[in-house]
Amino acid sequence: MNKLSGSERGLYEKYTVINNKTGKPVKQFTFTLSPEKDPAAVAALQEYIKVTTNRTLAEELKCHLESILRMDKVKCDYCGKHFGELRSSPYTEDGEMCSTCWKMAREALLASYGEDIGEF
Ligand SMILES: [Zn+2]
Repeated sequence: MNKLSGSERGLYEKYTVINNKTGKPVKQFTFTLSPEKDPAAVAALQEYIKVTTNRTLAEELKCHLESILRMDKVKCDYCGKHFGELRSSPYTEDGEMCSTCWKMAREALLASYGEDIGEF
């Protein structure tokens, strides 16, 4: 039995791709990319955009990829995840904080110093 974790496992049938026209699984080799989680998928899509002859698809993929990369730059400085909305950290002037971390900081500051920083 293969005990390797997902990132070390190599090629295997992780997903079943369904053809939307027929409702049936696609039989030919199909490779699924997740650019939001995998930098290699971003690189693969950037190359695909360069070589595909379908310019409409290339433009749409480029737009989608740019929005993912923009999202990736907007990360909470405390938990490292990316969220749509961030606000300045109550601890430092440089940091950006997500609503989840803000809630935890609010509780911690209230318990430790009795100071309420308010809602996110
Ligand atoms: Zn956070």
